[in-house]
Amino acid sequence: MKKLFFLILPLPLIWFAISTSSCTGTEDKEDDTVTSDVSVISQKYPDFSADSAFVFMQKQVDFGYRIPGTQAHARCADWLFAKLKSYCDTVHYQKTTAVAWDKKTIPVYNIVGVFKPKSIQRGVWASHWDSRPWADNDTIRKNEPIAAANDGASGVGVLLELARNLKKNPPSYGIDIVFFDAEDYGKSEYENSFCLGSQHWAKNPHTPKYKAQFGVLLDMVGGKDAVFGRESLSMQQAGWVMNHTWAIAEELGYGSTFTNETVYPITDDHHYVFQGSQIPMIDIIQHDPERNTFAYYWHTHADDMSAVSKETLLKVGKTMSALMFNPPIQIQP
Ligand SMILES: [Zn+2]
Repeated sequence: MKKLFFLILPLPLIWFAISTSSCTGTEDKEDDTVTSDVSVISQKYPDFSADSAFVFMQKQVDFGYRIPGTQAHARCADWLFAKLKSYCDTVHYQKTTAVAWDKKTIPVYNIVGVFKPKSIQRGVWASHWDSRPWADNDTIRKNEPIAAANDGASGVGVLLELARNLKKNPPSYGIDIVFFDAEDYGKSEYENSFCLGSQHWAKNPHTPKYKAQFGVLLDMVGGKDAVFGRESLSMQQAGWVMNHTWAIAEELGYGSTFTNETVYPITDDHHYVFQGSQIPMIDIIQHDPERNTFAYYWHTHADDMSAVSKETLLKVGKTMSALMFNPPIQIQP
């Protein structure tokens, strides 16, 4: 993704009041779920294993650089498809091509896992799975690819773990898990050169007339000591989703991780999803408030498994699990 500094002004700093109650979640070893008696989280939700999410991340990184057109890319795609197939009711393997900024025609594989395909009420969770072919922000080996543990594998790792849990605890509404390809093949100088997979999917969804009431994008969600501010496009296009999600995180005791700091608009997959399909989608993305940009290892060779922490994966994963079972829409039986 890339920054979209000042093109769109951040929303005023008016946030809805968020519950300040502390976490009251209790482990329920019997049925593998967690309960809470605080208002935003009223429904039980499956517990989240950061260890498992970490293993799913490691597996992706072990394939090598997941760069469109490479063997590692094709092998990882097949593995992601197989994993989703083992968890979801239906899986779609969307194979297409795109012409990139460098005029190369590259394969683009979006993979979509579906729970409750017939349900009209739907929420969509997404993450990009490709890895950046260059280390632009590094001081050495700038033209060589990066492991992209946080910038790519982390969101997918969290979503695979959530999918694994959904198989055991089916949701009461439709949930779609989308792995977008070719998010990080862009160059800032070329307009719309990032997010090629989501650009395609938003205009050509996996099923005709596909609609979800809300969406959540995970991008760089495993970094050590990560902080997630309120990204401005998310607030503009889906402020009600972000308020609800941040309230859940606050209730879980993660208020210092999901902060109310305004983050400049970021051109990420959620932007193209909203543009192409009008699905209000938020972006949960690590942002370093001190540097006022992404983490120091962003698009460098330091974005490997050592940049990732299970603590962050747990915070994001648990918040997402609670959100899936306490969505920001009224579920009709
Ligand atoms: Zn990136």
